[in-house]
Amino acid sequence: MRDFAAEIEQRKRDGLYRQRRLISGAQQPELTADGKPLLSFCSNDYLGLANDAGNIEALRNALPRTGLGGAASHLVCGHHQAHHQLEQRLAEFTQRSSALFFSTGYMANMGVISALVGRGDTVFCDRLNHASIVDGCLLSRARLRRYPHGDVAALEAMLAGTDGHKLVVTDGVFSMDGDVAPLRALARICRRHDALLVVDDAHGMGVSGPQGRGSVLEAGLSEADVPVLIGTLGKAVGTSGAFAAGPQWLTEYLVQKARTYIYTTAMPPALALATCHSLDTIEAADDRRDHLRSLVERFRSGARAAGYCVMDSSTPIQPLLVGQSHAALALSRALEEQGFLVTAIRPPTVPQGQARLRVTLSAAHTLADVDQLLDALVRIGGDVPDHAEASA
Ligand SMILES: *Cc1c(COP(=O)(O)O)cnc(C)c1O
Repeated sequence: MRDFAAEIEQRKRDGLYRQRRLISGAQQPELTADGKPLLSFCSNDYLGLANDAGNIEALRNALPRTGLGGAASHLVCGHHQAHHQLEQRLAEFTQRSSALFFSTGYMANMGVISALVGRGDTVFCDRLNHASIVDGCLLSRARLRRYPHGDVAALEAMLAGTDGHKLVVTDGVFSMDGDVAPLRALARICRRHDALLVVDDAHGMGVSGPQGRGSVLEAGLSEADVPVLIGTLGKAVGTSGAFAAGPQWLTEYLVQKARTYIYTTAMPPALALATCHSLDTIEAADDRRDHLRSLVERFRSGARAAGYCVMDSSTPIQPLLVGQSHAALALSRALEEQGFLVTAIRPPTVPQGQARLRVTLSAAHTLADVDQLLDALVRIGGDVPDHAEASA
């Protein structure tokens, strides 16, 4: 038998061993992790809605009406009025004709991509796309071509040299870098080369664009420009699940073909109603988004002044590029000793030599929280080997 235990030991030596922390209590900046109180800067709860009293109340109020379990798949008898209501709300929120509710973003990407392309087709995938997109591409059995991150010219050359059915897929906001895809240019070349554009806006949803409607609407792109818009509900929306939104044909087709939609139990319907409530909150949450932007600016200028290598991002994802995995882990541990939880992100989640601390900010943070983190980063500064190397 293959020596799995030895592989685990090797991972530890390489600084690549992954460990889960045990969180108790609600998700919010003040966390208890492995029994220790820490100030967290690594969740995707960008608007502080994961523990929002209004959302929790909406869930509680929905439960007596819907019961708890989903009980069956949507195509058997699981498709509840509450799911239908959420789909209509999501279509309206994203200014699309229709939306289909999936259980997770991972399942949405797997199901959507493998439904829309197959053997003999070609799918073009940004090098830094989320793992669930890559897995969706692989599952589809289409030819997979990865293009250099954000490189529209390289992508266009690939598209021009390819016949047959073509699909281009990109993160809206890149999950580990925080930068935004060149969406307008992508839409233009997809139109020119008759390629279907899919945007996964997991990290833009709720945060970017007018009333938090996402990076696709921030770029002013219509359903004709971006026919397939994917969003997730477990990040800024603060609940759980995901969706694909677009023309009527898209949702109809996915109901026929998307296996991760068809062969799974419907999510608890009450959760769909809590999500509708959260979307109402998000539309009216410009104050939270304004506060978040000021936190981002404060953090960026402070971290840069302290000699850290901030990346080119204006979103709440503010990674500090470190380089080597061991060094990223050391920085994360040093921060933990000072009372902060910031996870080190290492290969294969990010490319070799680009390990980083993925700092994320939330509207639930205060300016004082950010200042405390910056103070700790200044104190740690020179103690951690080669964090400055990448910025040199
Ligand atoms: C988190 C994430 C997903 C997965 O969504 P889940 O609902 O957590 O499964 C998909 N795409 C991107 C870009 C993500 O960041």
